[in-house]
Amino acid sequence: MVAEASAEVTLSGISRAFGALRVLDGVDLQVPAGTMTAVLGPSGCGKTTLLRIVAGFESPDAGSVRIAGDVVAGSGAAVPAHRRRVGLMPQEGALFPHRTVAGNIAFGLRAAHRRDSAAVVARWLEVVGLSGLADARPGQLSGGQQQRVALARALAAGPRVLLLDEPFAALDAGLRVRVREDITAILRESGTTAILVTHDQDEALSLADTVAVLFDGTIAQHAAPADLYDRPATLQVARFVGGTVELAGDCRGGVVRTALGAHPVRIPVPDGPVTMVARPEQLHLGGGDDPRGTVTDRRYYGSRAVLRVRLDGGAQVSVHTQADVAAASGDQVTVGVRGTVLAFASPSGGQGMALGEPGG
Ligand code: ADP
Ligand code: MG
Repeated sequence: MVAEASAEVTLSGISRAFGALRVLDGVDLQVPAGTMTAVLGPSGCGKTTLLRIVAGFESPDAGSVRIAGDVVAGSGAAVPAHRRRVGLMPQEGALFPHRTVAGNIAFGLRAAHRRDSAAVVARWLEVVGLSGLADARPGQLSGGQQQRVALARALAAGPRVLLLDEPFAALDAGLRVRVREDITAILRESGTTAILVTHDQDEALSLADTVAVLFDGTIAQHAAPADLYDRPATLQVARFVGGTVELAGDCRGGVVRTALGAHPVRIPVPDGPVTMVARPEQLHLGGGDDPRGTVTDRRYYGSRAVLRVRLDGGAQVSVHTQADVAAASGDQVTVGVRGTVLAFASPSGGQGMALGEPGG
C-alpha cells in the first residue's frame, strides 16, 4: 500500500472571527503522525473553519499551524494550500460528476505519479474495493461507493495529512457504519495522519485514536475515547459525548448521595452540593434495598427496553433493561446503580432540586 510520509500537525492558539462572530478562540491541538484524531462539536462550532485553516483555504487571525514541525500558517508564514500536501475530503460534492471514477482518482495524482497513472489508479481502485467500477460515473454509484472514490482521490495525491469533513453525514444510517469502518481501516493501513471532524459522538468515539471536543471556540477536552466517556472534564462534555442520568446530590468524602442512594465518585470533587452524572447503562432494576419508584413509561427498542421511572422522591430516571423484562407503566420497581459515578460541583446556590435528564 501507500507509504507516503505522514506528518504531525500542531495547532497553537488558533483564533478566527467572521465580523463580530468569534468562531475559533485559541484552539490548541496536537495530532501525532499516523494517528486519527476526531474533532467533535455541535453544528456551527467552527469545525469546517478549523479544517480550512489547516488546509490553507482560510487564514487564522492569530495562532499558528505547524505540519511536520514547519510553520505553514501564522507567525508571518502563509504556505499556499497546494504546497502543504494536505488533503481535504469536503462535506459533500467531493467528486467531479462528468469524470469517470478512474478520472476522478487520476485527478488527485501528484505529478510524480502521472507517468504511470493507469497503474496507480488501478492500485487505488483495488485499495478501496472498487476495481470493477473504473469507468462508472459518480452518479451511478451508491453514496458509500462515492465516498470511497473521494477517499482514493484524496490519498492518491499522497497527502501528509488527510482532513475529513463529516464524510459520513450524508449516508443512510444502515450504510454509514460499514462505510466508516471500511474507510477508517484503509486510513489506518496507509498510516495517514487524519483529522476527522464530526458532530456525531458515536462516530468520533468508535473511529478515532483520540477525540478533541470543540466548544465555544476552544478544545474543552482532548482524550482517548474511553477516557472522554468515563472521565469527562465538564458536565457539558459529559452530556455531549453520551447519554446522562443527572440527579442533584451531596458529596462527602468521595461518596455522593442522591435519590438513587450512595455512590462512590470516579473523580474526586470537593465536599458540597453536586450534580451526579451516571451513564444510562449503569442503571438497572434493583434489589430489595434499592430506592423505590413507579414505572411511568416503557419504550421498546428491539434489542432493549427503556423504562421511565419516577422515584419516590420525585426525580425521573430512565432505566435500560432487556427487551423481555416484564415491567409496565404503573408497576412498582427498585432502581440500582452499577459502578462509580461522576459528580460536578453545583453552581453556587443550586441545591436540592431533582434535575432529571436533559434530552431523556
Ligand atoms: P461547523 O463546521 O462546525 O458546522 P463552520 O466552521 O462551518 O461550523 O462555521 C462556524 C460559524 O462560522 C458559523 O456560524 C458560520 O455561519 C460561520 N462562518 C463560517 N464561514 C464563514 C464565512 N466565510 N463568512 C462568514 N461566516 C462564516
Ligand atoms: Mg461543517
